[in-house]
Amino acid sequence: MQVFTDIAELRKWRSGLPIHSSIGLVPTMGALHQGHASLIRSSVEQNDLTVVSIFVNPTQFGPNEDFDAYPRTLDDDVAIVREMGADVVFAPKMQDIYPKPPAQILFSIRDLDKKLCGASRPGHMNGVVQIVSILFHLVQPSHAYFGLKDYQQCKIIETMVKELHFPLQIVPCPIVREPDGLAMSSRNVYLSPAERLSALSLIQCLQEVKSQLGSFQSTAEILSFVHKYLEKFPDVKLDYFEVLHGEDLTEIQNLPDATDPHAFIAAFLGKTRLIDNLAL
Ligand code: AMP
Repeated sequence: MQVFTDIAELRKWRSGLPIHSSIGLVPTMGALHQGHASLIRSSVEQNDLTVVSIFVNPTQFGPNEDFDAYPRTLDDDVAIVREMGADVVFAPKMQDIYPKPPAQILFSIRDLDKKLCGASRPGHMNGVVQIVSILFHLVQPSHAYFGLKDYQQCKIIETMVKELHFPLQIVPCPIVREPDGLAMSSRNVYLSPAERLSALSLIQCLQEVKSQLGSFQSTAEILSFVHKYLEKFPDVKLDYFEVLHGEDLTEIQNLPDATDPHAFIAAFLGKTRLIDNLAL
């Protein structure tokens, strides 16, 4: 396995590959866990070659978010990627990706960005689309792997690929969870033991809504149920809970007739913001 920290090295490697090779790209911010590993495993199984990128992308963090504190564990990450049989780790330097910040070219995303994390983290999805499109241009993958834990991100990237005619296929991958149900996240390391326990309320709340779905007449009823449910967890501060059409993240007008209701939650445990989602 090779580790490239220079764009030039990556480009040289890429230009020497046979034209019909299938190349899987797994974009990550490092601090790899089993969720990332499942994406890498799928890519290794499905492609001739796999590139895992590791880059803590500053443009997707807000001014008061955890960019500085974000866990950086490159040596451990490289060992994991090597063990999984990928071919390249691409860990570019910040000044190579963004030589003259702030970038002049920004993306503008319509309705897909006006809800969920797009609404509560202004500029976040622009940063995601920015770095992902840079990585697509540099690596030129045939397939790119994204986790459905970041469901809205996945939908926005799928839409970008379609609308901007990127010649590659997005492969959405299921959420990997801890044995007790908590969605794996690089941010889980921030949680104190008490917060770790309370963090279970996210998936429990989603599952509770799912199991009682037939008793709700509207998404507003679900929302008031969720607020009541979370009163049992005073250290959980709800950022949002929404039920939308899973296909295109549009509002549900008539809940009993909705074919693909999908629930999304984001909440703060102390300073740590966690997200999760579940098809209902
Ligand atoms: P991140 O390093 O957090 O930017 O995540 C990199 C990729 O891994 C994204 O496509 C995430 O959606 C995906 N990912 C993160 N956590 C999980 C998880 N628990 N299950 C599945 N995919 C995940």
